[in-house]
Amino acid sequence: MSKNQKRLPLIFHAEVLQRIRQHARSSMEAEICGVLIGLIRDGQVVVNASIEGEHATSGGAHVTFTQETWEHIYRTKDRQFPHQKIIGWYHSHPGFGIFLSEYDTFIHENFFSAPHQVAWVYDPHSDEEGCFAWDKGKLKRLKTITVVNPKADQDEKPRPEPDPASLRDGTSSQSGLGRLVAGCRKFFMRFGWSRRPESANQELDPETTPATSAAPDESPRAGGPTSDDKPKPATSKLAE
Ligand SMILES: [Zn+2]
Repeated sequence: MSKNQKRLPLIFHAEVLQRIRQHARSSMEAEICGVLIGLIRDGQVVVNASIEGEHATSGGAHVTFTQETWEHIYRTKDRQFPHQKIIGWYHSHPGFGIFLSEYDTFIHENFFSAPHQVAWVYDPHSDEEGCFAWDKGKLKRLKTITVVNPKADQDEKPRPEPDPASLRDGTSSQSGLGRLVAGCRKFFMRFGWSRRPESANQELDPETTPATSAAPDESPRAGGPTSDDKPKPATSKLAE
């Protein structure tokens, strides 16, 4: 495979982005990192899990995958995701925005050079996030990604990046991607994430946290759903 191949559509499970944000918010000063796990299937790259990069070191505007980090990552991957691929990596930029530094680019070129591999960056101070991928041999920030929530039968359609001119004021350069994931964040905050701060590391379980019953401003017929209900109303909610 060459870096010049056409990029496949990239799909994130919303749960993965939630976990990345939680990981990053656990360290508001130092950067954290991890890898993205998923599958390439039916002409799509699907990120459905992540592994936190333990033993990583950080300094200045970069984070380093140490030998121990990789050992932990591969041990975890072999145990939990033996048939999946490493789709890329993520790291945080606490308070300094979304970009790939020279060092980040070095990491990507040396450890994540396959055409399908991407870099996800999240700033836990601003909640901004972005995804960088190979495009004709160069790393570029993606204009859109697709976020799905299979557990809740959610399906978020990709949205176009706003015209760069509309961002010229520079005050809040939240991209289409940022808005898209902000929508997901709203979803999680509404449906249980923020309701259990003492157990922030727990996975959102739609069986015990039915999406439809947690929304205070849901349509009237959402008043009495049971955990058996399909969370259909939430689909339109998220797509607003
Ligand atoms: Zn960085």
